[in-house]
Amino acid sequence: MKFGFDIDDTLINLREHAFHIYNQKLNQNVPVEQFHELKTVEIHEPFGLSSIEGKEMWNRTLEEIYFTTCPAYPDAIETLQELDKQGHEIFYITARPKEYGERTREWMKQQGFPVQAERFFYGMKDTEKAGIIRELKLDYYFDDKPDVLDTLANDYLRVYVMNQSYNQHLTLPRISRWSELFDILTKE
Ligand SMILES: [Mg+2]
Repeated sequence: MKFGFDIDDTLINLREHAFHIYNQKLNQNVPVEQFHELKTVEIHEPFGLSSIEGKEMWNRTLEEIYFTTCPAYPDAIETLQELDKQGHEIFYITARPKEYGERTREWMKQQGFPVQAERFFYGMKDTEKAGIIRELKLDYYFDDKPDVLDTLANDYLRVYVMNQSYNQHLTLPRISRWSELFDILTKE
């Protein structure tokens, strides 16, 4: 079968990693509990930044956020390796900007994710993911972001929400830990 995955905040804990970087860079000590309560994908609010300042901070820090020590979620790498071993096709569909695409692909490989160059897509807008997912004829797709998931909700494929504080309102089936994936598959 064909499995598609978003990367940031679906397979890797990017926003929390960025939250720690913001604390360092802004010389603040905002407790991580505030991160877990965020109702927005954006993380700037607890730091007292406006949305414009938040956007600037994100873009200024992007290189460091993307390519340092962002951890994968528990069991994410092992679960995808197992899917790969079982002969499933694994696709990555990330809206990370074009200029970071190839480095992201290599970074993912270095972390141990099973990556094939021709199954790695990047640089599209959130709203363009749906078209790519349809063209690839994926069987399963996993993402965290309401803006993306809303565009897929009526599609034929099986969509799962990666559980996050800002997507609680979505009614799609949900995955909270990657160790649950094989349970989900056997129940289908
Ligand atoms: Mg994401």
